[in-house]
Amino acid sequence: MNTSVGTSVGGAERAQMLMQVYLDHAATTPLDAVVLEAMMPHLTTSYGNASSVHALGRKARFAVEDSRERVAACLGAEPSEIVFTSGGTEADNLAIKGGVSALQKGVLTSATEHEAILKTIEAVHQWGYETHIVTPAHAGAVSLAQLNAALQSRSVGLVSLMHANNEVGTLTRIPEIAQFCHAHGILLHTDAVQTAGTFDLNVEALGVDLMSLSGHKIYGPKGVGVLYVRGGVDLKAIAHGGSQERKRRAGTENVAAIIGFAAALEQAVQHREERTAHLKVLRHHLVEGLQATLGEAIRINTPLDEGESVPHILNIVFPPKPGESAMDGEMLLLNLDMEGIYASSGSACTSGAIEPSHVLLAMGYNVSTAATAVRLSLGKGNTVEEIDYTIDTLAKIYRRMQLLK
Ligand code: PLP
Repeated sequence: MNTSVGTSVGGAERAQMLMQVYLDHAATTPLDAVVLEAMMPHLTTSYGNASSVHALGRKARFAVEDSRERVAACLGAEPSEIVFTSGGTEADNLAIKGGVSALQKGVLTSATEHEAILKTIEAVHQWGYETHIVTPAHAGAVSLAQLNAALQSRSVGLVSLMHANNEVGTLTRIPEIAQFCHAHGILLHTDAVQTAGTFDLNVEALGVDLMSLSGHKIYGPKGVGVLYVRGGVDLKAIAHGGSQERKRRAGTENVAAIIGFAAALEQAVQHREERTAHLKVLRHHLVEGLQATLGEAIRINTPLDEGESVPHILNIVFPPKPGESAMDGEMLLLNLDMEGIYASSGSACTSGAIEPSHVLLAMGYNVSTAATAVRLSLGKGNTVEEIDYTIDTLAKIYRRMQLLK
């Protein structure tokens, strides 16, 4: 974000510039102007219900089907394979609940998945299905070898592994996992909510059977998502009512949001290379700056080698020195907030709660170190100047908090 707010202090002798730096793009992104423009007619004059037969209804239906075709084209899929949902959470729910009910078999996932998967797995466990949760050996992602070992003698019909972790950014090797699953007659679902903006999500190249996406992580609107469902994959509906979305998702379509989703995904595909390059430069600069200013005080949890993580996420912790108490992570975030830097401790859904990140705990951190986590997630609008300000401010706050301990 490029906003600088000038405030006058003590009769305007000194204009103090407070920079505002939004570094929480893994939680949500600002709406792209192009996306808003595409949505506008359907938020105002074109308000028809896509199921109505009159002209306004037909206009809405055309817009929904046109968006479906455009989303399918971005993913290398067929329009009939695209199910519009209310977001990533519903897409994950539909994939897991709808998938296991159709298969009548168990499901396997990772301990570092988003709550939208973990809580849904808990729910299908209550329904009586076999569920298995693997704790990844490496930086939050399950490897093929681990998956192989975990599947031995287990009756699993569906594997769900996220494409990139939303807290630490680690990538899962989805194409090789898809090959392995298919060789064992198992379907693969991936939550690609965090990779949609910067990765090629061609479903043939990935080899997935089910894939979840969310609009608001790619500069689109909140409250809209997509579940890709490979042709021939049976899925039981989880909400009942009308026969929208080929009977896979009942409910009046959110036409404006669906159009916004398609526009946002197209923008992401069109600008993928430049966005990715920009994010890589910013993250590299951030890492170098933090290492130079904070050195041994921080540990980086995001794997930084090429191809190991998404370029927009950097997760750090402040491990306490032997005999010292851990820093208060929430206080650090509040201090950053007061300096105009908006970051989070991890998943937006769990921030505000006192519990430390389940991802960092699964990665082997103890509760007190996990509670010091800061996730800085970058976006297309961030600048090098903002990163410099963040590095200096974070170091300043850390030193101040050390003195107060
Ligand atoms: N999956 C992942 C990996 C996420 O990061 C999020 C949001 O934080 C979700 C699912 C949920 O998506 P939504 O906010 O669209 O429900």
